[in-house]
Amino acid sequence: MSVPYSTDDAGHPAPSDGLSQSVGPNGPLLLQDHFLIQKMAHFNRERVPERVVHAKGGGAFGEMEITEDVSRYTSADLFQKGRKTPLLLRFSTVAGELGSADSARDPRGFALKFYTEHGNYDIVGNNTPIFFIRDPSKFSDFIHSQKRRADNQLRDNNMQWDFWTLNPESAHQVSFLMTDRGTPKTWRHMNGYGSHTFLWYNAEGEKFWVKYHFKTDQGAENLDADKAKALEAADPDAHRRDLWESIKKGDFPSWTVKVQIMPFDDAVNYRFNPFDLTKVWPHGDYPEITIGKFTLNRNPSNYFAEIEQAAFEPSNLVPGIGGSPDKMLQGRLFSYPDTHRYRIGPNYLQLPVNQPKVATRSYNLDGPMTYSNNADPVYAPNTAGGAVSANELYEGEGYHVSGEMVRSAYELHKEDDDFGQARTLWEKVLTDTERTSMVGNIVGHASAPEVTDDMKKRVVEYWTNVHPDLGVGVAKGLGVQA
Ligand code: NDP
Repeated sequence: MSVPYSTDDAGHPAPSDGLSQSVGPNGPLLLQDHFLIQKMAHFNRERVPERVVHAKGGGAFGEMEITEDVSRYTSADLFQKGRKTPLLLRFSTVAGELGSADSARDPRGFALKFYTEHGNYDIVGNNTPIFFIRDPSKFSDFIHSQKRRADNQLRDNNMQWDFWTLNPESAHQVSFLMTDRGTPKTWRHMNGYGSHTFLWYNAEGEKFWVKYHFKTDQGAENLDADKAKALEAADPDAHRRDLWESIKKGDFPSWTVKVQIMPFDDAVNYRFNPFDLTKVWPHGDYPEITIGKFTLNRNPSNYFAEIEQAAFEPSNLVPGIGGSPDKMLQGRLFSYPDTHRYRIGPNYLQLPVNQPKVATRSYNLDGPMTYSNNADPVYAPNTAGGAVSANELYEGEGYHVSGEMVRSAYELHKEDDDFGQARTLWEKVLTDTERTSMVGNIVGHASAPEVTDDMKKRVVEYWTNVHPDLGVGVAKGLGVQA
C-alpha cells in the first residue's frame, strides 16, 4: 500500500517535514515536538561502527545454479545438480576506511552469502586464492601495519614493508598484490576464491577437501598503476558505481563456479600442506572442476540495511560442509560472528539481510532488538513438543585429530617453504609485461618518502628470495646494491 503522507517511524502522519513547533513564529522550540526530537535523535544514531577491515564496499543480490552432479562429494543442499540458490555478494577493499578509493592497491573481499534450504552458507573469500599469514595470532598486527600509525594517523609504507619482510610467508600474497591484480579494473572483472580449504562430506559420510574458485565471465582485467592512481582522484567510488550501473541497465555480471577436490587421505602426504593459506593447490595436481554459475541481478534498495549491515561469517556452514585444520579459518570461525555481535548487536541474524530464508527454531532468546517470535518451550530438551536437533545431517563432519598441546608452526610437507609458489608465479605464470609492471609497482610502493634505506635493502632481499631477477629489478629501481 502506498502511503499518502510522510510519517514518523511509528507511523504517525507527520505534521511537517520542515517546520518545528515553536512558541509563536519567532519563539523558542518546544521539547514536546517529538517529531523533531525523533528526527534529530535518529540522525545522531545513523552509523554503526565501520568494519575494522573491509570497510569500503558494495554488493548485490543474485542466484547460483548448479549444473553438475557433485553429490558424490557433498550432500550440501545448495550444491545439488539443478539447485538454484539466492545469494548476496559483497565486494570490498581491505585497509581503507568507508570513504576511501575503490581503485587503491589492495586485495579485494569477495564475500558470498547463500540463502540455502539448510540455513545460510557464507564463503567469505577474496580476489586472491591465498593470504599474507598462516596463523591468526598475527592478524591484528598485520592489519595494524597496513592501516595508520599511532602518532600521526598516517599510513606508512615503511611499516608495511617492515611487517612483510619480517613475515616471509607473506611473499606469495604480496606478489599477487604487486601485480596488476592488486588494482582490478572493476569488481566485475576479477575472480573470487574461497581461499581456505573446507571439508565436503557426502550422504554416506565420505570426506573430501575442497577449494572454491569463482571465475569472472567478464574476463579478468586490471588497471595499471597510473590508471588506478588517476581513478582514485577522479572517481573514488568507481567500482561501486560500475556494479550498480551495470546491474541497473540489465547487464548482469556472472562467475563460473569451480572447485578443486582432494581425497581426504591425500592431505597427509601432499607435497604442500593443503591447509596452509599462503599456498595454492597447483591445478596440475587437483584440476578445477566446473560445477555451476552465479549471476548478480538485483541492486540493494537500501545500502545501509542490506550491505552495510550484511554480516558474513565463515562459521555459517551447512550440512555437507565443514571446516578444516586451516588455522586462519579456525580463527575466523570465531572472530567474524564476534565482530558482528559488537558492530551490529547480538541479534544481527534477525535483520532481513542476514536472516535465513528458512524458518528458524533456536533456543536463543531476547537481547536488544529482538523481533523473532520464539514461543514456548524456551529450553531443550523438553516434553512440550519443542523442535529437536538434526544430528544425523552432520554425521560425516567429524574426523580424527590428536597431538600434544603446542605453540608451533605447521609441520613442513616436502615442498613447503615461504617463497617457492611466489617463484612459480614469477617464473611460469607472469608474462614479460606483467613482470615489468610488478617490478614497477614494488619500486613505486617502496619508494615512498618514509621508507628508509635500511628497509629498502630488506625489500630487495625479500624479492631476491622470490627470484634473483626480481631482486635485481627491484634493487635497480630503488637504487640499492643487490
Ligand atoms: P597453472 O599454470 O595451472 O595456473 C596458473 C594460474 O595462475 C592460472 O590458472 C590463473 O588462475 C593464474 N594467473 C594467471 N595470470 C595471473 C596473474 N597475472 N597473476 C596471478 N595469477 C595469475 O599453475 P599452477 O596451478 O601450478 O599454479 C602456478 C602458480 O600460479 C601458483 O604458484 C600461484 O602463484 C598461481 N596461481 C595458482 C592458482 C591455483 O589455484 N592453482 C590460482 C591463481 C594463481 P586463475 O584463473 O584462478 O586466475
